[in-house]
Amino acid sequence: MSLLIRDPFVGGTPTSIYIEDGRIAALGEERPADETIEAAGLHAFPSLKNGHTHAAMTLLRGYGDDLPLMEWLEKKIWPAEAHLTEEDVYHGTRLALLEMIRSGTTYLCDMYWHREGVCRAVEEMGVKGHVASVFIDLGDREKAREQRDRIAARLSDRDRHGPRVRMALGPHAIYTVSEESLEWIADLARKEDLLVHIHLSETRGEVEECRRRHGLSPARYLEKVGLVGPNLIAAHGVWLDAGERELLAAAGATVVTNPTSNLKLAVGGIFPYREAREAGLRVVLGTDGAGTNNNLDLIEEMKIAALVQKHRAEDPTCLPAAEALALATTEASEAFRLGPGGIEVGAAADLMLVDLSGPATTPVHDPVSNLVYAASGRDVHTTICDGEVLMRDRVVRVADEGEILAEAARAARALLARSGGAG
Ligand SMILES: [Zn+2]
Repeated sequence: MSLLIRDPFVGGTPTSIYIEDGRIAALGEERPADETIEAAGLHAFPSLKNGHTHAAMTLLRGYGDDLPLMEWLEKKIWPAEAHLTEEDVYHGTRLALLEMIRSGTTYLCDMYWHREGVCRAVEEMGVKGHVASVFIDLGDREKAREQRDRIAARLSDRDRHGPRVRMALGPHAIYTVSEESLEWIADLARKEDLLVHIHLSETRGEVEECRRRHGLSPARYLEKVGLVGPNLIAAHGVWLDAGERELLAAAGATVVTNPTSNLKLAVGGIFPYREAREAGLRVVLGTDGAGTNNNLDLIEEMKIAALVQKHRAEDPTCLPAAEALALATTEASEAFRLGPGGIEVGAAADLMLVDLSGPATTPVHDPVSNLVYAASGRDVHTTICDGEVLMRDRVVRVADEGEILAEAARAARALLARSGGAG
């Protein structure tokens, strides 16, 4: 299967992109292809990668806004999630992926319940993902055993949803998973070379509680249980101190910053981006779930990340547009083992074509500036994953959009009715 994207701007210069078997095979060269996209006037960028999300939480979008994190979790989210079925998760994840494809995202690092429902949706919609079951035992031995058994049972057929759906481990956080289970997860991750996706150092309360219970800061505690390594994907990291940043950087770990979620939940701080980068720590970008964002538009997230970091540093040169784009593309490709993440020969053909001809994005002095600061996900014209065209000219090809929207809305209403929430 071959694809020619004729004459899009790449870095401001019209450059045809020839794709064969899912990879970029030539740049600036036109070869006959099975499909040709006339792209003169459009801007090609690497597609975006969402480093931290709970995709199916689209079902709970706008349910319980404006509450403190623990109250939101305990009174709204966890009671509703207790009634989730695999079908609900499938419908919610398809809705999330529809939004992601529409806004140029072709990868997600997901952590949620009913993993099978997530995997089915990811496989069907044609994006790539690391899919983790959320692991929460709250110190309950029986709960821990059940979840460990389920993970162990899944190891042998972990690739059954195709090459784009990969398995990761998802301990929710250090305050919801027992030390024994964290050690078990660390051990398994090392043996099987799996990514471990965890919430870390999100609120000040988490840091205080960790110090009180374990006498250690959160990252030091993770080190103690064996989880600090190149496989670690730590979401948030808002309160990481200098020693913790150095520890994670030296281990080759990744921090996912989710600025909108942090702002909305008012966690009280902003991820120390500049200091993290100075320490050599890899940073990528995520939206978190739709409950705390409330959309999954990484173009908007790049802008917010850049703005909050400039504000925090009191320096407008902090996190410039090109760097914000790198967090969501090349840095993420490295963290999530997707190979080279730019538009280059040999890289996976994970691309988006963006229309910068609208009123908010004219003139184009600098396409990256327009993408990060002026565009929105709605300006994405075409989305390609592994050379497969998931959306062309704003028409999603891989699914029936109307059916996804209707089914997700129905599943959300039924879920809240079952869980005693507002139906
Ligand atoms: Zn999260």
